[in-house]
Amino acid sequence: MTSIVPTEFGAAPADVAPAAPATPATPATSADVDDPRIGIKRYGLDGLRELLASLGEPAYRAKQLLRWLYGRGVATYDEMTDLPARLRERLHTAAPLAVPELLQVHHSQDGARKYLLRLADGARIEAVGLPSASSPTHSSDRPSTRLTVCFSTQVGCAMGCAFCATGRLGLTRQLAPGEMADQLLVVADDFGCRVTNAVAMGEGEPLANYDATLAALRLMNAPDGLGIGARHLTISTCGLLPQLRRLTLEPEQFTLAVSLHSAVQATRDMLMPALARYPLDELREALITYAQTSGRRPTLEVVLIDGINDTPEEINALAEYCRGMLVHINLIPLNAGGASDLRPASPQRLREAAHVLSNRGIEATVRRSRGADILGACGQLAAG
Ligand code: SAH
Ligand code: SF4
Repeated sequence: MTSIVPTEFGAAPADVAPAAPATPATPATSADVDDPRIGIKRYGLDGLRELLASLGEPAYRAKQLLRWLYGRGVATYDEMTDLPARLRERLHTAAPLAVPELLQVHHSQDGARKYLLRLADGARIEAVGLPSASSPTHSSDRPSTRLTVCFSTQVGCAMGCAFCATGRLGLTRQLAPGEMADQLLVVADDFGCRVTNAVAMGEGEPLANYDATLAALRLMNAPDGLGIGARHLTISTCGLLPQLRRLTLEPEQFTLAVSLHSAVQATRDMLMPALARYPLDELREALITYAQTSGRRPTLEVVLIDGINDTPEEINALAEYCRGMLVHINLIPLNAGGASDLRPASPQRLREAAHVLSNRGIEATVRRSRGADILGACGQLAAG
């Protein structure tokens, strides 16, 4: 990396050893994360500032560049009419501007759309757009449309969770901050409206690409960037503890979801082998600290799998685990795409689990899965 490459596009933290994927990771491209074709998209806000400072430019230029890149989402430096022509040329040489190529859009019957994108180095990723009409708060208000984007943070994933199609790919490479923010721009462009919410729930484990993901969220949050409120930006993690503790100390009010899937250690180890080194009781402590420090309620995601984690014993263990914690549980039916011997829990089991948890004073909802008909639902993204 050169001296102006910021930390936000660093390699995966050393303690995130890849789990053996079901099929070996085959590099989709000849490029690695240092590929010069990624250009300006490798930078977050700090990186843009450093780059412009290294070119001898005043600080306000970073704001201008941010506005062009992510506020307006232009595809060439030539369009940045308030930047001097000489600077545009120098930027073009120092950090070329590439936008993702939209290869395919799949439309789900439920309104969700899945996007297959090719990045500057040829890597392929998927993102999903989820429109929803929110109810008016006052009778005179017109329903406003919410557009949520589920974006990828890595090409593939190293975690190898048994139920997840992305996990079967293995990890090809990290995504850069601008490559994450660009996914929102593609979806906004296709729907013809602004993105109101974004969730790091596409391909990859966001906290295994910590600096770049946080830098991307800041591009999305910045008023001159995508201008999305921090509370409308969600990180979903399988629960990498060192990074989760670090996230607790970040100043922004980003929303946190943790994929728990079971409160029984042996079951969780079987479903999420790469997480076995972070015991459930330590995760519980980290979640309590998170809630106390941030004042925010994390969501726990539980994908219910027939005969594995939907039994009365499992739901009871889940209730015990959450007792006294400030959490919300999302119960999610398993989508196809992971190990073929795993079957979704029955709708009745899902309802029963929600009922048992609610009776024990734990907030739980059954989450509707969207985009399954286009393989765009949770855990089904597998373009890498
Ligand atoms: N790596 C992160 C975010 C990407 S996965 C994480 O694991 O949280 C996004 C969500 O999809 C997670 O909650 C994950 O557990 C869930 N998921 C994975 N495979 C799934 C499947 N087959 N059916 C339903 N949800 C799944
Ligand atoms: Fe990776 Fe999340 Fe899929 Fe696990 S569930 S393999 S952490 S993307």
